[in-house]
Amino acid sequence: MAVDTQPFTDRTDEQRAICEMVRQFADEQILPNAERYDAEDSYPEPIVEQMKELGLFGVTIPEEYGGMGLDLTTYVMIVEELSRGWISISGVINTHFIGSYLLQKYGTEEQKQRWLPGICDGTGTMAFAITEPDAGTNTHNITTTARRDALPNGQSEWVLNGRKIYISGVDEADNVLVVARAEDARTGKVKPVLFVVPTDASGFEAKSIPMEIVSPELQFTVFLDDVRLPADAVVGDEDGGLVQLFAGLNPERIMAASFSTGLARFALDRAVQYAKEREVFQGPIGGHQAIAHPLAQSHIEIELARLMTQKASALYDAGDDMAAGEAANMAKYAAAEAACDAADRAVQTHGGNGITQEYGMAGLLVATRAGRIAPVSREMILNFVSMHSLGLPKSY
Ligand SMILES: Cc1cc2nc3c(=O)[nH]c(=O)nc-3n(C[C@H](O)[C@H](O)[C@H](O)COP(=O)(O)OP(=O)(O)OC[C@H]3O[C@@H](n4cnc5c(N)ncnc54)[C@H](O)[C@@H]3O)c2cc1C
Repeated sequence: MAVDTQPFTDRTDEQRAICEMVRQFADEQILPNAERYDAEDSYPEPIVEQMKELGLFGVTIPEEYGGMGLDLTTYVMIVEELSRGWISISGVINTHFIGSYLLQKYGTEEQKQRWLPGICDGTGTMAFAITEPDAGTNTHNITTTARRDALPNGQSEWVLNGRKIYISGVDEADNVLVVARAEDARTGKVKPVLFVVPTDASGFEAKSIPMEIVSPELQFTVFLDDVRLPADAVVGDEDGGLVQLFAGLNPERIMAASFSTGLARFALDRAVQYAKEREVFQGPIGGHQAIAHPLAQSHIEIELARLMTQKASALYDAGDDMAAGEAANMAKYAAAEAACDAADRAVQTHGGNGITQEYGMAGLLVATRAGRIAPVSREMILNFVSMHSLGLPKSY
């Protein structure tokens, strides 16, 4: 299908080459195996190993720490191509993005040296945990606590207690960047603080959540029971609070948008191919406008969502965080909607085959739906746009 796989913004030869390399990798290595991966329902170790060898875990991490040092706009194209290859394969690298991003932005030099090279080569990956069962969307209500405990040698340790839910990829991660509430020793006020928690720490336990989504990545409930951490497990300024945390959310939303546009392209490609081949009356079913028009609509909606995603990443790369914030929310919304509609139309185009395991289309309904819920729900984006873009009163 006529989809320009390069962003509309200026690209260097290196950026173009990497996008092209990932497109080919998706075409030759991932797409032909997608059905087998669906059927096997197991972690696609060989593909993930190839992704590590290609350096895809460290695309935006500076070269001095083992990464490629490329911009978010390039990364967005990579994520879209991977996600077009197979449902959620991009999640395998996306999960670690927010941790690596916050480390780059707020970590000390020592912390960057310690953790970033492992994320780049895939030997020390880092999941991210903020969501809690009782707080849900309202992250101000998290109750995981971090208490400072004085040691006899005059030093201190942090002690973490709490529970996180829907945390992706914990089984494959070496660390989890956990958001907890710590009490300010001076003011007594509670503030969110970021901690790197090793998954083998005493008191850390993860239990997988049975999900309906077809994904190489599992979701987990994480239990933190008196997990003791050294003082330097804290990333960023203890007083940086929500500002630091929210700085990582825009790029995460932009990536979630490219995950959705990739899935949408996959669904549409399959639907168009089927509509050209399947004949029940005279000629292929794609000759009926009832089939053709919804697919044409999807093509338009996907291209619009991709354009907004590229705008968001271009603004982010240019350092315009305010404008990038609004664009990131809009891109995430538009991409998730385009993906849900494309999946629905693709299933309908396939008729009964659309819900057989053989054709593997029905799984897209749940996968695209996840893009409407995480990392931020459609409703919270509409709340954001009502309030920040339109100046309407806060509704939550
Ligand atoms: C596949 C998947 C992977 C995930 N991975 C991670 C991860 O790695 N790390 C992590 O920390 N979290 C992760 N999450 C959690 C995800 O970010 C949350 O599911 C999401 O933020 C929504 O929270 P909730 O599920 O508790 O829904 P709730 O907060 O319970 O909301 C339920 C519904 O009510 C709506 N709602 C709530 N409040 C309002 C309001 N004020 N106005 C309008 N509507 C409202 C919501 O939009 C939603 O539709 C993941 C979730 C999924 C599904």
